Amino acid sequence: MSTTERTPGRPRAAVADLPAYRPGRDAQQAEAEHGITDAIKLASNENPEPPLAAVVEAIAAAATGVNRYADHRATPVREALAARLGVDAACITVGSGSSGVLHQIFSTYVADGDEVLFPWRSFEVYPIYTRLAAGRQVDVALTADLGVDVDALIGALTPATKVVVVATPNNPTGVVCPTADLARLAAAAGDDTIVVVDEAYREFAPADGDDAVRDLVGIHHNVVVTRTLSKAQGLAGLRLGYAIGHPGVIADIDKVAVPFAVNALAQAGALAALDNAAAINERVARIVAERTRVVDTLRAAGWWLPEPAGNFVYLPVGDAAADLALALERVGVVVRPFAGDGVRITIGTEAENDRMLTALASHPAVGR
Ligand SMILES: *Cc1c(COP(=O)(O)O)cnc(C)c1O
Repeated sequence: MSTTERTPGRPRAAVADLPAYRPGRDAQQAEAEHGITDAIKLASNENPEPPLAAVVEAIAAAATGVNRYADHRATPVREALAARLGVDAACITVGSGSSGVLHQIFSTYVADGDEVLFPWRSFEVYPIYTRLAAGRQVDVALTADLGVDVDALIGALTPATKVVVVATPNNPTGVVCPTADLARLAAAAGDDTIVVVDEAYREFAPADGDDAVRDLVGIHHNVVVTRTLSKAQGLAGLRLGYAIGHPGVIADIDKVAVPFAVNALAQAGALAALDNAAAINERVARIVAERTRVVDTLRAAGWWLPEPAGNFVYLPVGDAAADLALALERVGVVVRPFAGDGVRITIGTEAENDRMLTALASHPAVGR
């Protein structure tokens, strides 16, 4: 087939204009490109430890039943989450990762010209989903400390704002947005505007800190909290995320779900992970301890970095981001650059973090 031939079909303008999604590079790509071996990937905020044995066993057991459709509503998972969160099961929906849940939220609320408001820089998916829905992106800058500027968000609300999205801890900067600020935002937004609080990294934030489900859901009915089993539970490849919100909002979000989006293996694995919370908490504690060690080491070396509350750290090196990421990749440490802004580095195992710190030590620290 000739490549000069016209591509058949007429994609919607929103799709035709969309750049193709570029995922983080993996270790094998870096090895092939730079002629190295034993590269490590600290680029996608994955959990460095393999899944718990109980989770693998549950997935394997469920594999023998995949000739059948799974429970479309994933009822046992919703009920297990509801019991653990102390909310009614009608307040919970599940999706193919929290990216899947976010996609459902955008499909439910955003159409031609509707405004979607979020801080920037934040999760790459928000602008993509906004464009895909033919919505209008309205973004506000982060604060000097790379946290969320809630007053600026409130100031940017208009009658056309359909959805506001705030990630806390924010990706890629790692900074937490207090729920007291989110409550002010939700009150200012009002019931015609959905305020999504993306808590993909909440398990890594201080345990005695805020909790968007406890502090916001049930009080501000326009708030939807999204969470995932991809990060703390280490099930990124399995795809299960969930949302907690007002039952009416949840019912609306459920309407646009792809049938059977949460597959049988994901449901089985998720239930096993939820049943093994103590073991998961130990893993989270190890990552948090490593994060502290990494941050202390970098700050002692003169780096300025925003206060991290996720399973990653962020070096706001500005225009040096792409070059720094490439230099690290050449020595087998694959990190995530955001061109012109900074470099995000996932907390890995102790040995992986040591390699990363050693690699960074040959670069001049960037202070404030
Ligand atoms: C990783 C991430 C998610 C979701 O990941 P899923 O694997 O789709 O659940 C959502 N929000 C943010 C901010 C993330 O970094």
